[in-house]
Amino acid sequence: MKTPIPYYLAQILDKVRPNEGGEVADYIPELATADPDILGVAVCSATGHVYHAGAGEHRFTMQSISKPFVYALALQEFGLAAVREVVGMEPSGEAFNELSLGGDHRPVNPLINAGAIVVNQLIDGVDSTVEDRVETIRSFLSRMAGRELEIDEQVCQSEVDTAERNLSLAHMLRSYGIIQDTAHDAVLSYTKQCSISVDVRDLAVMSATLANGGQQPVTGEMILDADVCRLTLAVMSSCGMYDGAGRWMAEVGIPAKSGVSGGLLGTLPGQLGVATFSPRLNPEGNSVRGEEIFKLLSADMGLHLMSTERRFGVYPIREIEQTAEEAIFYLQGHINFTAAEAVLYELQQDNFRGARLALDFEQVTGFNTIGRRMLKEGLRRFREAGVDVAVIDPRARMTNLEMSDGTMVPVAEPDDYQIAGEGT
Ligand code: GLU
Repeated sequence: MKTPIPYYLAQILDKVRPNEGGEVADYIPELATADPDILGVAVCSATGHVYHAGAGEHRFTMQSISKPFVYALALQEFGLAAVREVVGMEPSGEAFNELSLGGDHRPVNPLINAGAIVVNQLIDGVDSTVEDRVETIRSFLSRMAGRELEIDEQVCQSEVDTAERNLSLAHMLRSYGIIQDTAHDAVLSYTKQCSISVDVRDLAVMSATLANGGQQPVTGEMILDADVCRLTLAVMSSCGMYDGAGRWMAEVGIPAKSGVSGGLLGTLPGQLGVATFSPRLNPEGNSVRGEEIFKLLSADMGLHLMSTERRFGVYPIREIEQTAEEAIFYLQGHINFTAAEAVLYELQQDNFRGARLALDFEQVTGFNTIGRRMLKEGLRRFREAGVDVAVIDPRARMTNLEMSDGTMVPVAEPDDYQIAGEGT
Protein backbone atom coordinates (compact mmCIF):
# COMPACT_ATOMS: atom_id res chain seq x y z
CA MET A 1 0.00 0.00 0.00
CA LYS A 2 1.28 3.42 -0.91
CA THR A 3 0.20 6.16 1.48
CA PRO A 4 -2.43 8.46 -0.06
CA ILE A 5 -0.81 11.66 1.26
CA PRO A 6 1.04 12.64 -1.97
CA TYR A 7 -2.24 12.04 -3.78
CA TYR A 8 -4.05 14.50 -1.45
CA LEU A 9 -1.28 17.01 -1.98
CA ALA A 10 -1.55 16.59 -5.76
CA GLN A 11 -5.32 17.15 -5.52
CA ILE A 12 -4.69 20.42 -3.71
CA LEU A 13 -2.24 21.52 -6.41
CA ASP A 14 -4.86 20.75 -9.06
CA LYS A 15 -7.33 22.99 -7.24
CA VAL A 16 -5.01 26.00 -7.11
CA ARG A 17 -3.31 25.59 -10.51
CA PRO A 18 -5.96 27.57 -12.44
CA ASN A 19 -5.28 30.65 -10.32
CA GLU A 20 -2.88 32.75 -12.36
CA GLY A 21 -3.29 35.87 -10.23
CA GLY A 22 -0.37 37.90 -8.94
CA GLU A 23 2.99 38.97 -10.33
CA VAL A 24 6.47 37.51 -10.13
CA ALA A 25 8.76 39.82 -8.08
CA ASP A 26 10.88 41.90 -10.43
CA TYR A 27 12.62 44.40 -8.13
CA ILE A 28 15.43 41.83 -8.02
CA PRO A 29 16.06 41.39 -11.77
CA GLU A 30 17.12 37.75 -11.50
CA LEU A 31 13.86 36.78 -9.74
CA ALA A 32 11.87 38.16 -12.67
CA THR A 33 13.23 35.32 -14.83
CA ALA A 34 11.41 32.66 -12.73
CA ASP A 35 8.93 30.42 -14.55
CA PRO A 36 5.62 31.65 -13.04
CA ASP A 37 3.87 28.30 -13.49
CA ILE A 38 6.13 26.17 -11.31
CA LEU A 39 4.13 24.79 -8.42
CA GLY A 40 5.14 22.46 -5.62
CA VAL A 41 4.21 21.47 -2.10
CA ALA A 42 5.91 19.33 0.54
CA VAL A 43 4.96 18.18 4.01
CA CYS A 44 7.29 16.70 6.62
CA SER A 45 5.92 15.18 9.82
CA ALA A 46 7.65 15.94 13.11
CA THR A 47 8.76 12.32 12.90
CA GLY A 48 10.62 12.99 9.64
CA HIS A 49 8.35 11.49 6.97
CA VAL A 50 8.54 13.68 3.87
CA TYR A 51 5.83 13.83 1.17
CA HIS A 52 5.57 16.08 -1.84
CA ALA A 53 3.58 16.79 -4.99
CA GLY A 54 4.45 18.89 -8.03
CA ALA A 55 7.86 20.52 -8.30
CA GLY A 56 9.39 18.93 -5.21
CA GLU A 57 12.97 19.33 -6.36
CA HIS A 58 12.84 22.73 -8.03
CA ARG A 59 15.42 25.02 -6.41
CA PHE A 60 14.72 28.64 -5.48
CA THR A 61 16.27 31.18 -3.11
CA MET A 62 14.99 31.32 0.45
CA GLN A 63 14.77 35.14 0.60
CA SER A 64 12.76 36.14 3.68
CA ILE A 65 12.12 32.53 4.64
CA SER A 66 15.72 32.55 5.91
CA LYS A 67 14.77 35.20 8.50
CA PRO A 68 13.07 33.09 11.19
CA PHE A 69 15.84 30.50 10.98
CA VAL A 70 18.64 33.02 11.39
CA TYR A 71 16.62 34.61 14.22
CA ALA A 72 16.51 31.15 15.84
CA LEU A 73 20.28 30.81 15.37
CA ALA A 74 20.82 34.20 17.05
CA LEU A 75 18.58 33.18 19.97
CA GLN A 76 20.47 29.92 20.27
CA GLU A 77 23.88 31.62 20.22
CA PHE A 78 23.13 34.67 22.37
CA GLY A 79 19.85 34.16 24.23
CA LEU A 80 16.65 36.21 24.11
CA ALA A 81 17.84 39.11 26.28
CA ALA A 82 20.82 39.90 24.02
CA VAL A 83 18.76 39.58 20.86
CA ARG A 84 16.05 41.86 22.25
CA GLU A 85 18.62 44.54 22.90
CA VAL A 86 18.87 45.08 19.17
CA VAL A 87 15.54 43.88 17.76
CA GLY A 88 12.02 43.66 19.21
CA MET A 89 9.47 40.91 18.65
CA GLU A 90 6.38 42.87 17.62
CA PRO A 91 4.50 42.73 14.36
CA SER A 92 5.18 46.02 12.60
CA GLY A 93 2.20 45.77 10.26
CA GLU A 94 4.40 47.12 7.51
CA ALA A 95 5.84 46.02 4.21
CA PHE A 96 8.99 43.89 4.22
CA ASN A 97 11.28 46.72 3.13
CA GLU A 98 9.78 49.45 5.29
CA LEU A 99 12.19 51.88 7.01
CA SER A 100 10.67 50.68 10.22
CA LEU A 101 12.26 51.37 13.60
CA GLY A 102 10.81 51.73 17.11
CA GLY A 103 11.09 54.83 19.33
CA ASP A 104 14.55 53.74 20.53
CA HIS A 105 15.67 53.18 16.92
CA ARG A 106 15.69 49.41 17.27
CA PRO A 107 13.78 47.56 14.57
CA VAL A 108 10.63 46.13 16.17
CA ASN A 109 10.03 43.18 13.88
CA PRO A 110 12.82 40.63 13.27
CA LEU A 111 11.12 39.21 10.17
CA ILE A 112 11.13 42.30 7.98
CA ASN A 113 14.32 43.59 6.40
CA ALA A 114 15.42 46.19 9.00
CA GLY A 115 15.15 43.61 11.79
CA ALA A 116 16.63 40.81 9.72
CA ILE A 117 19.71 42.87 8.75
CA VAL A 118 20.33 43.44 12.47
CA VAL A 119 19.83 39.77 13.33
CA ASN A 120 22.21 38.76 10.54
CA GLN A 121 24.84 41.08 12.03
CA LEU A 122 24.63 39.32 15.39
CA ILE A 123 25.79 35.99 14.02
CA ASP A 124 29.41 35.19 14.84
CA GLY A 125 29.83 38.49 16.71
CA VAL A 126 30.82 42.00 15.64
CA ASP A 127 34.35 41.04 14.63
CA SER A 128 33.24 38.44 12.12
CA THR A 129 34.03 38.85 8.44
CA VAL A 130 31.15 38.69 5.98
CA GLU A 131 32.53 35.40 4.70
CA ASP A 132 32.67 33.72 8.11
CA ARG A 133 29.24 34.99 9.13
CA VAL A 134 27.66 33.77 5.91
CA GLU A 135 29.38 30.41 6.25
CA THR A 136 28.06 30.00 9.81
CA ILE A 137 24.55 30.71 8.53
CA ARG A 138 24.87 28.47 5.47
CA SER A 139 26.18 25.60 7.50
CA PHE A 140 23.45 26.00 10.17
CA LEU A 141 20.71 26.04 7.52
CA SER A 142 22.30 22.98 5.90
CA ARG A 143 22.09 21.06 9.18
CA MET A 144 18.43 22.07 9.45
CA ALA A 145 17.80 20.80 5.89
CA GLY A 146 19.94 17.68 6.28
CA ARG A 147 22.02 18.38 3.18
CA GLU A 148 24.65 20.92 2.09
CA LEU A 149 22.84 24.01 0.81
CA GLU A 150 24.45 26.41 -1.64
CA ILE A 151 24.23 30.13 -2.26
CA ASP A 152 22.79 31.14 -5.62
CA GLU A 153 25.48 33.71 -6.45
CA GLN A 154 23.67 34.92 -9.56
CA VAL A 155 20.53 35.91 -7.62
CA CYS A 156 22.72 37.36 -4.87
CA GLN A 157 24.69 39.57 -7.26
CA SER A 158 21.53 40.69 -9.00
CA GLU A 159 20.06 41.78 -5.65
CA VAL A 160 23.27 43.42 -4.42
CA ASP A 161 23.41 45.45 -7.67
CA THR A 162 19.94 46.86 -7.01
CA ALA A 163 19.86 46.97 -3.19
CA GLU A 164 19.34 50.73 -2.73
CA ARG A 165 16.50 50.26 -0.30
CA ASN A 166 18.30 47.74 1.93
CA LEU A 167 21.45 49.89 1.79
CA SER A 168 19.46 52.85 3.04
CA LEU A 169 18.11 50.69 5.90
CA ALA A 170 21.65 49.60 6.76
CA HIS A 171 22.96 53.19 6.67
CA MET A 172 20.21 54.23 9.02
CA LEU A 173 20.85 51.29 11.40
CA ARG A 174 24.56 52.11 11.41
CA SER A 175 23.92 55.80 12.02
CA TYR A 176 22.03 54.84 15.19
CA GLY A 177 24.82 52.48 16.26
CA ILE A 178 22.60 49.39 15.98
CA ILE A 179 24.99 47.69 13.54
CA GLN A 180 28.75 48.07 13.28
CA ASP A 181 29.55 46.80 9.77
CA THR A 182 29.55 49.19 6.84
CA ALA A 183 26.17 49.34 5.11
CA HIS A 184 27.70 47.56 2.13
CA ASP A 185 28.97 44.61 4.19
CA ALA A 186 25.77 44.34 6.24
CA VAL A 187 23.65 44.20 3.09
CA LEU A 188 26.04 41.79 1.36
CA SER A 189 25.93 39.43 4.33
CA TYR A 190 22.13 39.64 4.59
CA THR A 191 21.66 39.21 0.83
CA LYS A 192 23.84 36.10 0.81
CA GLN A 193 21.65 34.68 3.57
CA CYS A 194 18.56 35.38 1.43
CA SER A 195 20.19 33.74 -1.63
CA ILE A 196 20.61 30.29 -0.11
CA SER A 197 18.95 27.88 -2.47
CA VAL A 198 16.43 25.22 -1.37
CA ASP A 199 13.53 23.15 -2.65
CA VAL A 200 10.15 22.65 -0.96
CA ARG A 201 11.29 19.36 0.53
CA ASP A 202 14.24 21.07 2.23
CA LEU A 203 11.96 23.76 3.62
CA ALA A 204 9.41 21.25 4.91
CA VAL A 205 12.17 19.37 6.75
CA MET A 206 13.62 22.61 8.17
CA SER A 207 10.18 23.61 9.31
CA ALA A 208 9.55 20.18 10.84
CA THR A 209 12.78 20.67 12.82
CA LEU A 210 11.19 23.74 14.43
CA ALA A 211 7.95 21.76 14.92
CA ASN A 212 9.97 19.00 16.56
CA GLY A 213 11.54 21.23 19.21
CA GLY A 214 14.89 21.59 17.43
CA GLN A 215 15.69 17.96 16.67
CA GLN A 216 16.11 17.44 12.94
CA PRO A 217 13.63 14.61 12.43
CA VAL A 218 15.43 12.95 9.52
CA THR A 219 19.07 13.05 10.70
CA GLY A 220 18.16 13.00 14.41
CA GLU A 221 20.60 15.84 15.15
CA MET A 222 19.72 18.15 18.07
CA ILE A 223 20.18 21.60 16.54
CA LEU A 224 18.10 24.08 18.55
CA ASP A 225 16.71 24.22 22.07
CA ALA A 226 12.97 23.67 22.34
CA ASP A 227 12.62 27.14 23.93
CA VAL A 228 14.26 28.73 20.90
CA CYS A 229 11.82 26.93 18.60
CA ARG A 230 8.88 28.10 20.70
CA LEU A 231 10.04 31.72 20.56
CA THR A 232 10.73 31.54 16.84
CA LEU A 233 7.31 30.05 16.11
CA ALA A 234 5.64 32.67 18.28
CA VAL A 235 7.35 35.43 16.30
CA MET A 236 6.45 33.72 13.01
CA SER A 237 2.81 33.57 14.06
CA SER A 238 2.60 37.32 14.66
CA CYS A 239 5.20 38.74 12.25
CA GLY A 240 5.67 36.19 9.49
CA MET A 241 3.30 37.34 6.78
CA TYR A 242 4.29 41.00 6.25
CA ASP A 243 1.27 43.19 6.88
CA GLY A 244 -1.15 40.33 6.23
CA ALA A 245 -0.17 38.54 9.47
CA GLY A 246 -3.44 39.09 11.38
CA ARG A 247 -5.69 37.95 8.56
CA TRP A 248 -3.38 34.99 7.97
CA MET A 249 -3.64 33.84 11.57
CA ALA A 250 -7.44 34.04 11.44
CA GLU A 251 -7.88 32.39 8.06
CA VAL A 252 -5.05 29.85 8.02
CA GLY A 253 -3.78 29.59 11.58
CA ILE A 254 -0.39 28.08 10.75
CA PRO A 255 2.70 30.07 11.83
CA ALA A 256 4.35 30.90 8.52
CA LYS A 257 6.99 32.85 6.64
CA SER A 258 6.91 33.85 3.02
CA GLY A 259 9.68 34.98 0.68
CA VAL A 260 9.61 37.13 -2.45
CA SER A 261 10.92 34.34 -4.69
CA GLY A 262 7.59 32.56 -4.13
CA GLY A 263 8.30 30.18 -1.28
CA LEU A 264 6.01 29.87 1.71
CA LEU A 265 6.79 27.85 4.82
CA GLY A 266 4.45 26.90 7.64
CA THR A 267 5.04 25.10 10.92
CA LEU A 268 2.49 23.35 13.07
CA PRO A 269 4.18 22.97 16.47
CA GLY A 270 4.61 19.36 17.51
CA GLN A 271 3.02 18.13 14.30
CA LEU A 272 4.54 19.04 10.95
CA GLY A 273 6.25 21.38 8.53
CA VAL A 274 4.75 22.47 5.21
CA ALA A 275 6.33 24.33 2.30
CA THR A 276 5.01 25.57 -1.03
CA PHE A 277 6.53 27.22 -4.07
CA SER A 278 4.76 29.31 -6.69
CA PRO A 279 6.38 32.57 -7.79
CA ARG A 280 3.38 34.84 -8.48
CA LEU A 281 2.89 37.19 -5.51
CA ASN A 282 -0.03 39.25 -4.22
CA PRO A 283 0.48 42.96 -3.42
CA GLU A 284 1.54 42.04 0.13
CA GLY A 285 4.41 39.99 -1.31
CA ASN A 286 3.02 36.55 -0.49
CA SER A 287 2.68 33.75 -3.04
CA VAL A 288 -0.90 33.73 -4.35
CA ARG A 289 -1.14 29.98 -4.92
CA GLY A 290 0.94 29.31 -1.82
CA GLU A 291 -1.61 31.15 0.31
CA GLU A 292 -4.41 29.21 -1.35
CA ILE A 293 -2.68 25.89 -0.70
CA PHE A 294 -2.27 26.78 2.96
CA LYS A 295 -5.94 27.76 3.22
CA LEU A 296 -6.96 24.40 1.75
CA LEU A 297 -4.55 22.49 3.97
CA SER A 298 -5.84 24.33 7.01
CA ALA A 299 -9.51 23.76 6.17
CA ASP A 300 -9.45 20.33 4.53
CA MET A 301 -6.81 18.81 6.74
CA GLY A 302 -7.92 20.46 9.97
CA LEU A 303 -4.55 22.11 10.61
CA HIS A 304 -5.63 25.47 12.11
CA LEU A 305 -3.58 26.05 15.24
CA MET A 306 -6.53 27.67 17.01
CA SER A 307 -8.87 24.81 16.21
CA THR A 308 -10.80 23.96 19.34
CA GLU A 309 -11.05 20.34 18.32
CA ARG A 310 -9.85 18.08 21.11
CA ARG A 311 -6.37 16.69 20.66
CA PHE A 312 -4.93 13.90 22.69
CA GLY A 313 -1.21 13.76 22.72
CA VAL A 314 -0.86 10.02 22.52
CA TYR A 315 0.85 8.08 19.77
CA PRO A 316 -2.04 6.76 17.66
CA ILE A 317 -0.85 3.15 17.52
CA ARG A 318 -1.26 1.45 20.89
CA GLU A 319 -0.17 -1.97 19.77
CA ILE A 320 0.34 -4.10 16.67
CA GLU A 321 -0.37 -7.82 16.78
CA GLN A 322 1.08 -9.52 13.81
CA THR A 323 1.62 -12.93 12.27
CA ALA A 324 2.61 -13.94 8.77
CA GLU A 325 -1.07 -14.07 7.78
CA GLU A 326 -2.67 -11.13 9.53
CA ALA A 327 -2.15 -7.99 11.52
CA ILE A 328 -4.30 -6.03 13.94
CA PHE A 329 -3.44 -2.40 14.55
CA TYR A 330 -4.89 -1.18 17.86
CA LEU A 331 -5.38 2.56 17.53
CA GLN A 332 -6.00 5.13 20.24
CA GLY A 333 -6.60 8.85 20.87
CA HIS A 334 -7.97 11.40 18.46
CA ILE A 335 -7.27 10.63 14.82
CA ASN A 336 -6.48 13.85 12.98
CA PHE A 337 -4.21 14.40 9.98
CA THR A 338 -1.02 13.92 11.96
CA ALA A 339 -2.25 10.77 13.69
CA ALA A 340 -3.57 9.28 10.43
CA GLU A 341 -0.23 10.04 8.75
CA ALA A 342 1.58 8.08 11.49
CA VAL A 343 -0.78 5.11 11.10
CA LEU A 344 -0.56 5.08 7.30
CA TYR A 345 3.22 5.36 7.50
CA GLU A 346 3.39 2.26 9.71
CA LEU A 347 0.94 0.44 7.47
CA GLN A 348 2.96 1.07 4.35
CA GLN A 349 6.16 -0.27 5.87
CA ASP A 350 7.40 -3.53 4.45
CA ASN A 351 6.92 -5.36 7.73
CA PHE A 352 3.25 -5.91 6.95
CA ARG A 353 2.76 -8.44 4.18
CA GLY A 354 -0.12 -10.43 5.60
CA ALA A 355 -3.31 -11.32 3.77
CA ARG A 356 -5.62 -9.96 6.49
CA LEU A 357 -5.54 -6.59 8.14
CA ALA A 358 -7.77 -5.09 10.81
CA LEU A 359 -7.75 -1.71 12.48
CA ASP A 360 -9.16 -1.73 16.00
CA PHE A 361 -10.86 1.55 17.00
CA GLU A 362 -12.10 0.59 20.44
CA GLN A 363 -9.73 3.04 22.19
CA VAL A 364 -10.14 5.77 19.61
CA THR A 365 -11.75 8.82 21.18
CA GLY A 366 -12.71 10.54 17.94
CA PHE A 367 -11.79 11.46 14.38
CA ASN A 368 -11.77 14.64 12.42
CA THR A 369 -12.95 14.47 8.83
CA ILE A 370 -9.53 14.16 7.24
CA GLY A 371 -8.31 11.58 9.78
CA ARG A 372 -11.27 9.34 9.02
CA ARG A 373 -10.97 9.91 5.29
CA MET A 374 -7.27 9.09 5.23
CA LEU A 375 -7.68 5.82 7.10
CA LYS A 376 -10.54 4.76 4.85
CA GLU A 377 -8.46 5.57 1.80
CA GLY A 378 -5.58 3.53 3.25
CA LEU A 379 -7.92 0.56 3.78
CA ARG A 380 -9.27 0.92 0.27
CA ARG A 381 -5.75 0.81 -1.13
CA PHE A 382 -4.92 -2.32 0.85
CA ARG A 383 -8.05 -3.98 -0.42
CA GLU A 384 -7.15 -3.02 -3.97
CA ALA A 385 -3.80 -4.73 -3.38
CA GLY A 386 -5.65 -7.96 -2.50
CA VAL A 387 -5.55 -7.69 1.31
CA ASP A 388 -8.65 -8.70 3.26
CA VAL A 389 -9.33 -5.56 5.35
CA ALA A 390 -11.75 -4.81 8.15
CA VAL A 391 -12.31 -2.53 11.10
CA ILE A 392 -13.05 -3.56 14.67
CA ASP A 393 -15.27 -0.77 15.81
CA PRO A 394 -17.53 -1.80 18.70
CA ARG A 395 -18.30 1.82 19.61
CA ALA A 396 -19.03 2.79 16.01
CA ARG A 397 -16.22 5.37 15.94
CA MET A 398 -15.79 5.08 12.20
CA THR A 399 -19.45 6.07 11.49
CA ASN A 400 -20.27 6.56 7.82
CA LEU A 401 -18.24 3.66 6.59
CA GLU A 402 -18.42 4.62 2.96
CA MET A 403 -15.00 4.66 1.33
CA SER A 404 -13.86 7.16 -1.28
CA ASP A 405 -14.84 4.75 -4.09
CA GLY A 406 -18.42 4.51 -2.74
CA THR A 407 -18.10 0.99 -1.28
CA MET A 408 -18.44 0.29 2.43
CA VAL A 409 -15.65 -0.51 4.87
CA PRO A 410 -16.28 -4.07 6.07
CA VAL A 411 -16.86 -4.23 9.81
CA ALA A 412 -15.40 -7.18 11.70
CA GLU A 413 -16.36 -8.54 15.07
CA PRO A 414 -13.39 -8.52 17.44
CA ASP A 415 -13.45 -12.31 17.44
CA ASP A 416 -12.98 -12.49 13.69
CA TYR A 417 -9.51 -11.21 14.26
CA GLN A 418 -7.94 -13.39 16.87
CA ILE A 419 -4.26 -13.73 16.25
CA ALA A 420 -3.59 -17.44 15.67
CA GLY A 421 -2.13 -19.20 18.69
CA GLU A 422 -3.13 -16.48 21.16
CA GLY A 423 -5.96 -18.37 22.83
CA THR A 424 -9.42 -16.93 23.09
N1 GLU B 1 16.21 39.64 -0.09
C1 GLU B 1 14.91 40.20 -0.17
C2 GLU B 1 14.96 41.68 0.14
O1 GLU B 1 15.59 42.07 1.06
C3 GLU B 1 14.01 39.47 0.76
C4 GLU B 1 12.63 40.04 0.82
C5 GLU B 1 11.56 39.03 1.09
O2 GLU B 1 11.63 37.87 0.73
O3 GLU B 1 10.58 39.47 1.70
O4 GLU B 1 14.38 42.47 -0.53
